[in-house]
Amino acid sequence: MTIFQFPQFSLEAAKIWEEIPAEFQEIILDNVLCSHCRDSVRIVDYSGSVVGGDLLLKGNCAICGHKVARLVEGS
Ligand SMILES: [Zn+2]
Repeated sequence: MTIFQFPQFSLEAAKIWEEIPAEFQEIILDNVLCSHCRDSVRIVDYSGSVVGGDLLLKGNCAICGHKVARLVEGS
């Protein structure tokens, strides 16, 4: 088990994230809505937590640095 490769993820969040295939992880990370850019952007410096059974990614917009978040619905 290599769950701790995401130090900014809680243990529960890392478990959910690791179950997502790498190509979908990339799609998720590349399609986060930034309210400042008003477009889908890449999320950087993100952390993960679990909210209501869903994975919540919180980080910054790769373009403008604005705070962005993306909810990844659990299975
Ligand atoms: Zn932005």
